[in-house]
Amino acid sequence: MGRNAHIHRQMMLKRRHPDFNGEHQISYRFDFDQCSINLRGRPDAVYREDNFLVVEEIKSVLASAEAFQGYTIENLNNFRTQLDLYLYLLRLQGQDHLRGRLHLINLAESGGDKTLDCAADFERTALLLEAAFSRLLAEIERRRNHYLNLKFVADELQFPFPTFRPQQKRMLEEVSAAAESGGRLMLSAPTGIGKTAGVLFPALKAAFQLDKKIYFATAKTTQRLIVRGLVDRLKLKSAPFSALFLTARAKLCPLEAEVCQWDSCQYICDFEDKMKRFSFIEEMYEGAVFDGENISRRALPVNMCPFAVALALAEYADLVVGDYNYVFDPRIMIRRIFADEGAAKIILIIDEAHNLPDRIRDCYSPEIAYSEVEFLLASLKGKASQWSFHKNAASFLRALVKFFHHLPEAVCPVELSSSDWSDLQAEAETLIMQFNLTPSDISIVKSDPLLKFLNEFIWFAKTAQLGEGMAYLYDNQRRILKALCLDPGLRLKDTMASFHSVIAMSATLAPNEFFAEMLGFYDRASNVNLLNPFPAENRKIRIIPEVSTLYKFRARFVPKIAEVIDRIYAEQPGGYFVFFPSYAYMQETAEWIKSPFLLQQAEMNEASRSDFLAEVAKGGKLFLAVLGGVFAEGVDYPGQLAGVIIVGPGLPLYCLETEMIRDYFDHCYGRGFEYAYVYPGMNRVIQAAGRLIRSETDRGSITLICSRFLQEPYRSLIPRDWYVEEVEELVVKSRN
Ligand code: SF4
Repeated sequence: MGRNAHIHRQMMLKRRHPDFNGEHQISYRFDFDQCSINLRGRPDAVYREDNFLVVEEIKSVLASAEAFQGYTIENLNNFRTQLDLYLYLLRLQGQDHLRGRLHLINLAESGGDKTLDCAADFERTALLLEAAFSRLLAEIERRRNHYLNLKFVADELQFPFPTFRPQQKRMLEEVSAAAESGGRLMLSAPTGIGKTAGVLFPALKAAFQLDKKIYFATAKTTQRLIVRGLVDRLKLKSAPFSALFLTARAKLCPLEAEVCQWDSCQYICDFEDKMKRFSFIEEMYEGAVFDGENISRRALPVNMCPFAVALALAEYADLVVGDYNYVFDPRIMIRRIFADEGAAKIILIIDEAHNLPDRIRDCYSPEIAYSEVEFLLASLKGKASQWSFHKNAASFLRALVKFFHHLPEAVCPVELSSSDWSDLQAEAETLIMQFNLTPSDISIVKSDPLLKFLNEFIWFAKTAQLGEGMAYLYDNQRRILKALCLDPGLRLKDTMASFHSVIAMSATLAPNEFFAEMLGFYDRASNVNLLNPFPAENRKIRIIPEVSTLYKFRARFVPKIAEVIDRIYAEQPGGYFVFFPSYAYMQETAEWIKSPFLLQQAEMNEASRSDFLAEVAKGGKLFLAVLGGVFAEGVDYPGQLAGVIIVGPGLPLYCLETEMIRDYFDHCYGRGFEYAYVYPGMNRVIQAAGRLIRSETDRGSITLICSRFLQEPYRSLIPRDWYVEEVEELVVKSRN
């Protein structure tokens, strides 16, 4: 709405003034304190009128009729300063007879527009600029000193452990080379060889030498704790770098608000002034370590939003540790550090990078449920006459209901028109603007379902305009319209290219070519695959091929699989994880198992997960869980397991979505089945097997049950360091 009004005003000026210029660049180079500062800007309109050169800015505002009437050039200080600056720059360029003009458009229900003239105040502008330049140069000087200090310590910084683990030195060299040369490195290294230290330490050194920062992106809080331990160790040796550990907004917001209302939240009021008054930034320059807890402790008593403080500090931290989302999800990406070429100053480390493609797929696969649209429409009944926002929202929702009624009576792919969804996005954005003014005394809304829906809808509409690598499907049984991100690599490509360097690490990124595409590197990444350094005799790996876990043979082989599992347990009792391709398969097999066991539940909260893990620590039974689940990846069982048993190659569920992914990659690379099923499935298998040996002292067996492990394409995905010559060495014949 704002954009249209803006264009409308420009068109009108163009008709009225033949010399109208909407693209006029104004720039001027200042010499200040031995520095050269180039200032430039582009006003919305420049034209001649009555012998004056008029510079006009067009601004949309949301204000009640009364407030809008009261607006003068004096009480719109920011707009006025912008105009003053343009006029001052033109004056320095030698222009005379200048006039500033502010055209205001009210987007609120009451509407209206007004034009305010502004006489140039060159003296005030010169003083403002001088003060701003002084502040800017002081900040540059402070940063320069900080970086010089870091550069100085880069050579002195010692590895935080007394000795290196096997392969760690090679890791250090590879990461240094990639980080320093601006490369993209995919590093596969088995767990237990000190990956976090082996990557973070050389990356920090490279960052200090090159005046760069580091963003360490993780999928899990547990990994953040490991990085915290490392930072504390390095700090013991007085390393002067600052670090920031980000905590989710939902955990930090004292109001538990679903959506921030930046204009009215008491914790954001006078935020910039408070940031200047309190010493957070100074402490960053002195090498502080901040996290959600110590920020909240200090920010809340002075009415500052802890999340906003954390975001502000991200700009100053030498190392930022946080979730993937702050880098890769456009809705919450930290623009102040990544946007406007900011990423070029950052070395990005992606932990457990094999998880990233699925995260991106989730992020770009939003859905709209008919039941929610209906519910929201019903909740507006009776309100529609009260505020025009409600009236407009009801009409928007009614149009959506109509749209759903035209969808096919089937579960099937659907085509969405990009331009239709661009219009719908604009409508939803306008509704949110109107919501902010209705009723006028609304401050923080904890969880308004309509506002939440509109925000989610806008994201859906944006994905509908992405084109390549996206598809849409309608499920008429659940009445859900779903976006489906077919190709996460396409969504990641530009982001990955924008960083100075990227280190993507994981226990396994095999096949490398598949992950290079899924992570958006394509042919830009180099690969380093480190082999397991622990003694081969510590783990007994075997394949039992007499059964098939194919769906069509399930009923036939489930009793036999249970028998094999019971036999392994009887031969060497102890704690075993048994991983299945699905809950259904796990439950069906559990009915035949005679040994003591504990079952992973589909829904487990933090407490029940901890109880489960406590039982694993006690050992002595089978722990039945699913491949790719919370117990199969990213969790350690140090010295607790006698073995890991894996039932089948863990292929994703056969369904319309996976089939659409398969078709897409068949079309792209001619390997749809591998990309949609085999590679993700075998990655889960290798991740799950990796739960067993995490140190030199861990011992146990890894058993793979299914004939497919000996067949292509699964066979060639069995890690090379699991056998000497050929996979068949691992085959164990079952006794009956
Ligand atoms: S700005 Fe306000 S609503 Fe938003 S997270 Fe901070 S305290 Fe919560």
